[in-house]
Amino acid sequence: VGFLYSSVFLKHAPPLGHPERPERLSALVTGLQRDELWGRLVHIQPERATLSQLARVHTHRHIELVQRTCKQGGGLLDEGDTYVVHESFEAAVLAAGAVITAVDHVLSHMLDAAFCAVRPPGHHAESDRPMGFCLFNNVAIGARHSQRAHGVERVAILDWDVHHGNGTQEIFYDDGSLLYISLHQYPFYPGTGARSERGNGDGEGCTLNIPLPAGTNGERYMEVFDAEVVPALQQFRPGLLIISAGFDAHADDPLGGMRLTEKSFGALTGRVKNIAPVVSVLEGGYNLDALSRSVNAHLRALES
Ligand SMILES: [Zn+2]
Repeated sequence: VGFLYSSVFLKHAPPLGHPERPERLSALVTGLQRDELWGRLVHIQPERATLSQLARVHTHRHIELVQRTCKQGGGLLDEGDTYVVHESFEAAVLAAGAVITAVDHVLSHMLDAAFCAVRPPGHHAESDRPMGFCLFNNVAIGARHSQRAHGVERVAILDWDVHHGNGTQEIFYDDGSLLYISLHQYPFYPGTGARSERGNGDGEGCTLNIPLPAGTNGERYMEVFDAEVVPALQQFRPGLLIISAGFDAHADDPLGGMRLTEKSFGALTGRVKNIAPVVSVLEGGYNLDALSRSVNAHLRALES
């Protein structure tokens, strides 16, 4: 199992008190380093995404807005919760590039699976709008790369972050080559992700939203996986499975209201990891201990 990480991701540093902070990654890495698991992971240096790789998903206006705001020293990009500093563009380009690097390694069979320990996260970023702590949609950029560079015909993105991935849904809403499945707390930020949002045109039926009430536990998630997620993935027969791996549905998370444990994340991983080669990408997860334990369980399930 590959592990993609760079200390450049720590340079994307928020105002004090912001939950999406560098300590999320440093705690995660320190936690893994204390474990024998660290020695078994294949450590791979991510490469930067090129502008044309970003432009497969985002408008030039979007890319330039992020780049210009960073160059000018930083600021806020949407209604107040998506900040950038001078170094954020570099971090964001490397975060998207990490998913591309992971896709290249997994699809050329150099790795069985890979985990990208990246920030800023990506799944709220739409084609023309940074949003919800997200600058570029890392998983979408990786999915497009797998199609263009490796000829993968069908890609699935499974998003178990506690928030709905409105950005990923918007980017692929009309696209029949990509199955987007999201389990999320509902109603909740960002407000999208109703059952009735199923895709459009060629993409009709290729968006599967599974809204769940606050307080949902791991047992219920497993039931939903067996009843809906696994059958939908098996029927779609993807050549690549990208996981938008947020860990903010953990019971200890300060933002989410769900009741998963780190064990739950291991079990969910085990249910899907044999369906297609897996590239997993960090999204949310804001309790440092819970995040660290959950990523550990996720990686152990990926390698078993
Ligand atoms: Zn989230």
